[in-house]
Amino acid sequence: MIIEMVTGASQGEIDVVVDRAKSLGFKVQLNQGTDKTVVAILGGNTGQVQTDVFTVLPGVESVTRIMKPYKLAAREVQPIDTVVACNGIEIGSKRIVVIAGPCAVETREQMIEVAKQVKSSGASILRGGAFKPRTSPFSFQGLANAGLDLLSQARKESGLPVATEVVDPSDVTLVAETADILQIGSRNMQNYALLTSAGKSKRPIILKRGFACTITEWLTAADYLLDEGNKNVILCERGIRTFEDSVRFSLDIASIAVIKKVSHLPIIVDPSHAAGHYSFVPSIAKAAVAAGADGLLIEVHPNPKEALVDGAQSLTPVAFDRLMNELRPIAKSVGRYI
Ligand code: PEP
Ligand code: MN
Repeated sequence: MIIEMVTGASQGEIDVVVDRAKSLGFKVQLNQGTDKTVVAILGGNTGQVQTDVFTVLPGVESVTRIMKPYKLAAREVQPIDTVVACNGIEIGSKRIVVIAGPCAVETREQMIEVAKQVKSSGASILRGGAFKPRTSPFSFQGLANAGLDLLSQARKESGLPVATEVVDPSDVTLVAETADILQIGSRNMQNYALLTSAGKSKRPIILKRGFACTITEWLTAADYLLDEGNKNVILCERGIRTFEDSVRFSLDIASIAVIKKVSHLPIIVDPSHAAGHYSFVPSIAKAAVAAGADGLLIEVHPNPKEALVDGAQSLTPVAFDRLMNELRPIAKSVGRYI
């Protein structure tokens, strides 16, 4: 249930609403905008309470029920877009933020070389997985702690903040010591123990869409992070499983428009995992920018032929540079820049 207070409602009036909700056993989240305060009433059984319980209170403008299962990620709770700040970079603002780097951290040379190359092409955040959630237990699982160390070195040498995936709830604190941004992968979107643990971290979180999950399930998963007090959630569309098998996953381009309508969270797009092949990446990336994505997450490897993971979908630094130049006029045409 969402309670919109009148413009200029007093603190006393807000307190009465909050106390009433708490006395009924609900959790409350306050969103204090510049003009208005919105009070979100949270709990599984808000449907059993009459909206009039709040409508009659002084200073209340409107009371609306949210029928959707997600609440904190909903635009009704926060009408203004969330802008996530990371080392002076804003995600969800006018600048389209490009996060680039290899699928997996492999060697010091690989990371430092790619970090410098993507930076010179205009990327502002470096990616690379130290912990890799693989479909098969026999595939390369990442360098783990040694990979985190290489990420730190690349961060230091290039000056780029780093985004890396965390797969285990008990690793969140460790990964957050190195990472500027934590990534929760598609396979873990509904790993509620991981979401709860990551939500306690102060680091911004990229929440990838589960490849068999609806937008509603995605936003409900985001609520786990938000409910733990981490407001810095970045959604990442990376393609969903459909009957189409000529690409690895089908990028749901419409999800950008849907998220912009129903949520205040920024959304970035990963064209690499959707494409599955480097030749499809530029087209999907350009479509995402044209459709209003706030950023891109692109796999770039200094030598894709030798990559331990996802070489086929990785761009070479030269191809990445070309793509960045092609993206700039598209960003400009939709009132953004890269
Ligand atoms: C990745 O970013 O390397 C990754 C494993 O992505 P996803 O979780 O989207 O498959
Ligand atoms: Mn990958």
